Amino acid sequence: MGACRGKRCIGRLKQILRGYDKSIVGIATPRGPMSNQVSIGELYPAEQHELLIPHTRNNPVKRTKVDSFIAGGGIGGSALFRYLAGAGQKPVLINFGRGASWRNIAGGRPTFSIPELSDIATKNLQIFKELQKIRNIDFMPINYVNFAHNEEVYQALEASMAWSDAEMVKPENFRKKISPFLSSKMKNYLGALKTKNCWQATPGRVIDLIRSLGISKGGTVLEDCQLIDIGKDGDNYIILVKDHNGEYKEYETSHFINALGPEGDKFAKKLGIETGLYPVKHQAFITRRLPMMGINGKPLPMLIDRRNYKGYSAVYGQQLAETGQVIGCASPTNEPVETDKNLIINSKEFLEIISEVFVNWLPDLSSVDFQAVWAGYYVEPRMIIDPQKGLFLGLRGQGFMLGQYLAKLYVDQLTGKQVPEYSHRLKLSGDGLPEKAFK
Ligand SMILES: Cc1cc2nc3c(=O)[nH]c(=O)nc-3n(C[C@H](O)[C@H](O)[C@H](O)COP(=O)(O)OP(=O)(O)OC[C@H]3O[C@@H](n4cnc5c(N)ncnc54)[C@H](O)[C@@H]3O)c2cc1C
Repeated sequence: MGACRGKRCIGRLKQILRGYDKSIVGIATPRGPMSNQVSIGELYPAEQHELLIPHTRNNPVKRTKVDSFIAGGGIGGSALFRYLAGAGQKPVLINFGRGASWRNIAGGRPTFSIPELSDIATKNLQIFKELQKIRNIDFMPINYVNFAHNEEVYQALEASMAWSDAEMVKPENFRKKISPFLSSKMKNYLGALKTKNCWQATPGRVIDLIRSLGISKGGTVLEDCQLIDIGKDGDNYIILVKDHNGEYKEYETSHFINALGPEGDKFAKKLGIETGLYPVKHQAFITRRLPMMGINGKPLPMLIDRRNYKGYSAVYGQQLAETGQVIGCASPTNEPVETDKNLIINSKEFLEIISEVFVNWLPDLSSVDFQAVWAGYYVEPRMIIDPQKGLFLGLRGQGFMLGQYLAKLYVDQLTGKQVPEYSHRLKLSGDGLPEKAFK
């Protein structure tokens, strides 16, 4: 009948039906067997979950036993893969899609308001340095510059100087010590904490490298393979996977690790674990290539404004040394509103806030085009690194800079090595080392 909508469509339908001596009287009532959008167990979860029966054209699904199995191949899953392979566990890693690990803005810093997180970040910095020696990951040491817009932030930044290599820069020295391109008209900051020992690297290169290190130690990566279902048979996990060719396969293992990022909670529930995790949409942008805008021809450091302004709690960005592009991000103040929101659409409010903050910092940027804008999920509200429960989730906005050492801690715990006392706080039963001040 071609495309037709609403009233016009019903009018046309009536006209056609008249020709058959039929007529429409009223509308259908919303009763069975029309449709069913929600299963009862979703609203009142029971221990028994739905049973998925794959359509396999009568061929039985082949089951393979493996030593260890990781679902999700972002920075978290790929680092676990590397370390598990190194420990002789012959891991199989499956990944389907591109999560936050390919969508982040590639920054690392040691400054946190919680010293344990600073320790984890410092260990990660070492790992990044070692990776760069093996193969180019575009590793580049940079500075982080946190602007203080009020006394409270100023004091929190000042306090963090006790455990980080940092310097408080006065507003009159911004152009000399941060970037000659910063506006001389900025009046809204009391100062800025410039922290050393921060870094950037290209996320895709890091993931490729750590996966290839795992492969060289006996691991197997299955890309474009989707976890469909998981259950337990005694102590073993039975894992149903749809592979790249659309075929279903089963794996059996005693070591299963859920590193599925925003999908992690869904599959933890299938094993009867409540994580309390949820995805929060974060938007990002990248400009076209630019000349270096930092001091002495270096890239612009990571600039951060943590003002609560126009619906955003932080706006931040840095210049990539490899290309000269400025890459940046904004964190929504009201995270529940952004929970699970579709990643395809960038909001006008996001484009407005980043334009305003970046042009106020760097007036020259007003004539520069965005090369791209996109979004990804932060998994909030806490980290869960729990080898007993097989969980490696909740890396928040810090997974690129913290993920690899956390994976090492996970594998060290599995293999009975000594780990720092704070590792226990990262378990589901712990508090997750919650960073609040410098998220
Ligand atoms: C815009 C933005 C900017 C950020 N900036 C920074 C930053 O500068 N520094 C920093 O440290 N962190 C940053 N982050 C956070 C960081 O990217 C994340 O913490 C980190 O990437 C999380 O890694 P992950 O491995 O836990 O999850 P993910 O990267 O989401 O990996 C999970 C993987 O599992 C796959 N998957 C999902 N479902 C299935 C399934 N059923 N079967 C198989 N595979 C599946 C996903 O596609 C994905 O590839 C940023 C995040 C965003 C969104």
